[in-house]
Amino acid sequence: MKWTDRYTKAFALSYDDGVYQDIRLVEILNRYGLKATFNLNSGLMNDPSSAWEAEGVRVERMPPDRLPSLYQGHEIASHLTRHQNPIGLDNDALRMDILCDKAALEDLFGCEVTGFAYPFGAADSRVEAVLAECGISYARGVQSTHAFDPPADLLHISPTCRHKEENLFELAERFIALQPDCPRIFLLWGHSYEFDMQQGWERFERFCERMAGHDDIFYGTCSELFGALRTGERR
Ligand SMILES: [Zn+2]
Repeated sequence: MKWTDRYTKAFALSYDDGVYQDIRLVEILNRYGLKATFNLNSGLMNDPSSAWEAEGVRVERMPPDRLPSLYQGHEIASHLTRHQNPIGLDNDALRMDILCDKAALEDLFGCEVTGFAYPFGAADSRVEAVLAECGISYARGVQSTHAFDPPADLLHISPTCRHKEENLFELAERFIALQPDCPRIFLLWGHSYEFDMQQGWERFERFCERMAGHDDIFYGTCSELFGALRTGERR
């Protein structure tokens, strides 16, 4: 059954890079019954040199062994093997990298990978075409819409907002109050290490508390949300 058979509103989260702060994020999401898609770089999971520091916070990707149990119940999507800018890769290199990342993630997690998040938000029609060739059915960018309309192009999805934006709670209230007669989506994205900065965890937990538990909202992964739209459910 598709969510659009029973609901007109759906909420999902999309978090990038597979860093250690995802452990705390997943614990919060699981506690509130929320679902996320985690966009991972299969080629950087065993590469400590990819760690960096942002505003005094250490950002480091997790090794692969603990990831399948951590992300259980959530979705895994591709973010290129080494977080390359897709626009900087020619068609052959891009195709090879997407297929390689997809295969490595499918092998590690034992499930099909059909989603993608653009590293650096870098997207264009050429990259979209290569993604489609590689069996990617939806791809997320980084430009906030502050709106809930279903995406016109599933290979170039703009999220509703990033969690650190000021109007996060205002958007939550608007979404909760909506009584739409056609599908509406709230897609939140970010990086979990950003919660370590400026007491972001407490604010995020308040947001989850407010968004969770509504009878008229479907809580699913990106592939569940966008998969239903792909099969002609848009009205
Ligand atoms: Zn990223």
